[in-house]
Formats: sequence, structure tokens, C-alpha cells
Amino acid sequence: MYKTHTCGELRQEHIGQEVTLAGWVHRRRDHGGVVFIDLRDRYGVTQTVINPDLPQEVLDLVTDVRFEWVLQISGRVRQRPEGNENPRMATGAIEIVASQMVVLNPAKTLPFMVSTENEEADENTRLKYRYLDLRRERMKRNILLRHEVVLFMRKYLSERGFIEIETPVLFKTTPEGARDYLVPSRVYPGQFYALPQSPQQLKQLLMVAGMDRYFQIARCFRDEDQRGDRQPEFTQLDLEMSFVERDDVLALIEELYTALISAVAPHKKLLAAPWPKLTHAEAVSRFGVDKPDLRFGMELTDVGDLFTNSDFAVFRSALSDGGMIKCIVAPGCAEYTRRELDKLTEYVKELGAKGLVSLGLAAEGPKGSGAKHIAEAEITELQKRTGAQTGDLLLFVADTPRIVHKVLGALRNRFRDALHLADKDVMAFVWVVDFPMFEWQEEDKKWDAAHHAFTMPRMDHLDRFDTDPGSILSDAYDMVCNGYEMASGSIRIHRRDIQSKVFHLLGIEEEEAQYKFGHMLEAFEYGAPPHGGIAPGIDRLVMLLADEPNIREVIAFPKNSGARDVMADAPSYADEKQLKELHIKLDL
Ligand code: ASP
Repeated sequence: MYKTHTCGELRQEHIGQEVTLAGWVHRRRDHGGVVFIDLRDRYGVTQTVINPDLPQEVLDLVTDVRFEWVLQISGRVRQRPEGNENPRMATGAIEIVASQMVVLNPAKTLPFMVSTENEEADENTRLKYRYLDLRRERMKRNILLRHEVVLFMRKYLSERGFIEIETPVLFKTTPEGARDYLVPSRVYPGQFYALPQSPQQLKQLLMVAGMDRYFQIARCFRDEDQRGDRQPEFTQLDLEMSFVERDDVLALIEELYTALISAVAPHKKLLAAPWPKLTHAEAVSRFGVDKPDLRFGMELTDVGDLFTNSDFAVFRSALSDGGMIKCIVAPGCAEYTRRELDKLTEYVKELGAKGLVSLGLAAEGPKGSGAKHIAEAEITELQKRTGAQTGDLLLFVADTPRIVHKVLGALRNRFRDALHLADKDVMAFVWVVDFPMFEWQEEDKKWDAAHHAFTMPRMDHLDRFDTDPGSILSDAYDMVCNGYEMASGSIRIHRRDIQSKVFHLLGIEEEEAQYKFGHMLEAFEYGAPPHGGIAPGIDRLVMLLADEPNIREVIAFPKNSGARDVMADAPSYADEKQLKELHIKLDL
């Protein structure tokens, strides 16, 4: 028996007992003859005392002991001497007076300290030695929280009649708008499996199979350019239901998340149910983005009509080109310096705007690039409309709607961070609904599915396929929280004729559709029920609940931001023999 207790278990009630612990050396302190070794495992830390009266061979070993050695220590539990209690430790009332110590395994000098939380090693070192990083309290907490989240979901859904079904990882292209990871087949020369970008098709086929409430904690694989906080593989709570409408799916998820968060992260504050619903058009118009952060105001205000007769060329020309003028109010920023404003202008230019017009409502009078072009009466009207007060800064963008929204949406979030406008403990969920079905891709001159190709277009928009596809709305929905997209889903197409129409518009012709998705199209001819679903991301949710800045902190073995596994050093080269077996010749 390696141990009788964990290192987090012993309390005053154990005083007097003979115990054996096994764990890692968290800390070691020499007090002139007496050595204190804090032993750690997943469950906590316990202080042990090595007195000089132990046999010499044990004392010799103790001298050698360093951080992170694996030890087994036996001894008697005793009350800590008065004044030595540590109320911050769960085991802080007791200590173990060692009678025996065994070195189970020594450890090399560490690349970074496990026991000190605030001394951060750089991320690549942490990832390279992830197994050490995971020993740290912070990471352990995150991994545990992740486990609790997933466990809660599994239980909650099972209790409501859902069944978890595993779907294959070696499959065929299941597009979600990214590149596929391909796996060459040894047995079928020249042929490839694709790793699913999501189990989308499989869960729909499960609905055809009558498994009317499915879920899976599912790994998704997407070969995307590594922008921002992305992982080539990530985890979703994938879910599908038959005979449901949009609001059935939304209600289920809303209830699940409310119960989940109050169970695993009770310090997080949720806005009252029901969560608000915004149409996609409204979200973009008011917040500039389709994933608005509702924890703070600073909404975009359309002020174009105030400037139809303006002699300010920037405003006038935007309007006469068919564009728009919107503004946001940055509270208390009227005194921004020229340099600060220049920085903002530089930022918006990077986002594609021609410029940024500023109007500081300083106590001594208007300031900024708009001051001499915006008349007093216009300022009064602007204040009325936006609620701007003396001391505030108005920022205007005059451009195409696309640029105006993109830029002001980004600026709004930038001010959120700079001015600390959002409470990190609030989780402001919002549903964004009524998405456009298609997006026009200017570079490729073709339509793309805004969600994915299996999303149901609004039935009353079916006649627009030939006339105005851009105006077709779909039955897709996003769950958004604090500016992040937390889930996407939709009611699906379950009729073959509509599916063909969608493929056709996306430029997937009958032959290609048959080759790639023939199994789906055929399935739709054998009694597919109406169905819909959603797939909330697990990584991002845990990230927010754990107050971590990126999803790598809540994944046990993530890739770095360049999509490499720096611990195993993957991807790596395959040897000649493997390549030959797979019928692959490299062209580097
Ligand atoms: N398959 C979709 C996705 O991964 C989610 C869904 O529509 O259920 O985004």
C-alpha cells in the first residue's frame, strides 16, 4: 500500500493516527536539524516533520531531497505547535512526525517552479513541460473545473432523455467553413478520410435514425489559419433534437447553462432569464458586431440624418456615396490628448476605415477633429440622441455600413478594456437570431453558407433563391456571452429538395453533392424528421468560468498559438516506410 490518505485529507480528527502519504516535494525547509517537507498531491499539501532522531540512512536521503521528488512518508499525525497553524491550508492544523521516508523517484532540476504560483514561466516552456505545468494549482483547478462542467452537462442531459452517442473521427468531409484535416488510407491508395470539423452530418443522420435526443462531448478538427485564440482541435457539447423548433433548443440550453453556472461557478452573475434575443441585424446595428458584449452600454447611434446638409466633406461624401455615419460615446474621455486620438485613428485605419472624427465635450468647449465642423445646434442634438455629457468623447465613423459597424464595434470593445467598463463576474448571455443564410465572398465571387449548408432557410424566403439570395434569412442562432460566440446552431433542412437548392446556390453541383454528401441526401428520402440542434464550445465556457485569458489554459495538452504541440514536437516527419505504405510522395 503506497498510502493511507491523500495529502489533502488529514485534519484534527486524525491526530494520533499512524499514516502514510505519497506525493511530490512541494517545499522543503531546513530548521537547524529539523527538516520540514511539504508533500503535495492532487488533493492538497501536508506538512511533514523530519526529526534528527531518525536513522542516519534516512537523514542522508533527506539531505538529497529536492523539489518535486516523489516520496513516501509514514508517521504519526499531531497537532501543530501553537503559533504554527496555517489557517490558509486545509491541512494547516496538523503535521506528520515522520518515522520513515522512502524515495520513490527523484526529479531533475525543474525548468520552472511548480510551487510558486506567481512566478510565471514563458508559455512555450510551460507547454513543453505541460505535465509539470499541470501540477500547478492554477492548472489543476482549471482541469477540475472542466471535468465538473462536462460531468454536469452529461448528467443534466441524460436526466432529460438525451443519450450520448460517439460518432466516428475517421469520416468524410463535414464542412464548417474551415479546411479539413485529411488522413491517408493505406488500404485504399490515393483515398483519404477527413476528420470531422463537427459531427454535424452524423448527428443529423442520428435524427433520421430516430435517436431523437442526442448529445456528445465531441472533438472537432478544423485546419484554420491560426488567428487569435484558436486550436486545431477543440471540444463542443454537440447536441441535436427531433421535432423541435428554435425556441425549444434555446430554452433547453438556457436552462442547462443557468443550472450549470450556478452549480460550478456560483460567483458568476447571470442576467435574469429569459436571456435577451437580438436579431442579427439589430445586433450589428446597435453594437457593430454579431457577438455583442451586453455588459456595458456605449451603443452605436446613427446620426447621418443630422449631417445631410453638413459642409464637413468627410460626412457629406460618405452620405452621398450611400454610406452612413454612426458614433459612440466614450465616457469621461473628452480630454484625450492629440496623441491618444492619433493612436485611435491609426487603429481604425488598420481596420479599413478612412479615418476617425472625434468630438470631445470638454468643459471649455468642443475639442477634436470634428470640433470646427460640427455646429452648436448639431452638438445639442447629438447630446440629446446619445446622452453624451460634458466630459465625454464622441467618435464618429462615416463610411460603408460594413466598415462603420466593424470599426465602431471594435472601438467599443477597446474602450471596454481601457476603461474597465465590464464586470468580469457578469456573464451576459444573449441569443442572436435571424442570421442571413448566405454571405457573399467577394474574392471568390461566390456565396458561402453563413452558418453551414445544412441550415434551414426561412420557409417564407424560399422564393428568393433566384432573385435575392443575400436577403434570405435562416433559422440559425448563436449564443453569445461577453462578446464571445459560445454556441452556434440551427434548425436543419430535412427536405431533399431544399438541400439541393442550397447546395446549388453554394456552387456545389449535383455530381459533387452526390460524391460528398450522397449519404445525407439519400437519408433525407427515408423519412427524416424535422430537427435542429446546437453546439456550445466547452473550451471557451471553461475559460470564462475560470477567468482565464485564453482557451489554452483550460485544455490539458493544447497546441501553441502556431498550432504546434511543443511537448511532443508535433507535427513531425513520417519515415520513408510509412510514407510508402500510404502511397505518399512528398513535394516540398
Ligand atoms: N455544427 C455546428 C458547428 O459546429 C453547430 C450546429 O449547427 O449544431 O458550429
